[in-house]
Amino acid sequence: MDCFTCHNNERLGSLPPRELVAADDHWRVAHAFDSALPGWLILVPRRHVTSIADLTDAEAASLGTWQVRLSRALHVVTGCAKTYVVQFAEKEGFAHVHFHVVPRMPDLPADRRGPRVFAYLGAPEEQHVDEQRRDDLAAALSAELDRVGG
Ligand SMILES: [Zn+2]
Repeated sequence: MDCFTCHNNERLGSLPPRELVAADDHWRVAHAFDSALPGWLILVPRRHVTSIADLTDAEAASLGTWQVRLSRALHVVTGCAKTYVVQFAEKEGFAHVHFHVVPRMPDLPADRRGPRVFAYLGAPEEQHVDEQRRDDLAAALSAELDRVGG
């Protein structure tokens, strides 16, 4: 199976910080690799699942907690006003369920609010948040998640 998410789930111990902001038995958190918006997180189940309906009760039980914990950490680390949480899993090669947890910054332009924030994803490569910045953000978010515990 050619699944980018599973490929990374299978090598958890050797992932760079940007691909392993946090994880537990059921979920892993990464910084989006092709986003022009710093702090754009992706929450993925550790199993290959292509529909939310196929999540187990155990996976479902911590899903909401992860969404809220990540949102809190994004508030602290990025200063966002709130977060957007979105799940489609429609792109070729990315059918693995993944929740976008996106920091909505106070100064986000009006024409980028709501669904239009996706203009930051899949942006031209030179606009992507670079690897160093993604690693730095991942480390800061990881530290904040550790600090508050849970
Ligand atoms: Zn997968």
